[in-house]
Amino acid sequence: MWSAHVRILRFAWILLSGVPLFSSGVQAATRTDIDHAIVQLGKAVPNMKLEVELTKTWSRAYVSDRIDGALLTMDPDFLNRLTPDGVLFVIAHEYAHVHLEHQKKLGAKAMELAGMPTPDMAFDAIERNPATMEKLHAMNRQFELDADEAATKWLASLGVVACTEDVLRSIDGADMMMPVVPSHPGYYSRRQIICRK
Ligand SMILES: [Zn+2]
Repeated sequence: MWSAHVRILRFAWILLSGVPLFSSGVQAATRTDIDHAIVQLGKAVPNMKLEVELTKTWSRAYVSDRIDGALLTMDPDFLNRLTPDGVLFVIAHEYAHVHLEHQKKLGAKAMELAGMPTPDMAFDAIERNPATMEKLHAMNRQFELDADEAATKWLASLGVVACTEDVLRSIDGADMMMPVVPSHPGYYSRRQIICRK
């Protein structure tokens, strides 16, 4: 009886948590919003070079830094959950990782910690060493907040406020993590950065 009750409550909660996105008349984002976001962001970030590929992926969105420009891989289901401003934020956040050279810095740190000559060898070695891994996690958590901060500033320079319920809700729980280290700061620490005056 109790568990049935809890299940109904949970069901109601899931229904309710989906409501704000749609009741406010905000539409789910599409490919057009991505293309628009790239053009918009290019105005805030000179020399930005970014391609976005929509494909089913284990992470919701992740960026790879390539010689011929960055590639952002994004899950179509994740895109559908975002508002258009949410798309702009996600793309800005991901591009900030490239702009701030986070991948390179994590690789260099890993090599230093493991005493290995390549990032791949270093990450492999560190994966078996939880104490060292935590040092990389800590660095990565800071990088995620730095990416939020850069994204928030870029959006502000375009006249877009990132600190809105729609944007925060659409990016909440978004695993926008860099592929190397599976660690992310939570909703509240991100909200603090994004909504800081
Ligand atoms: Zn990130």
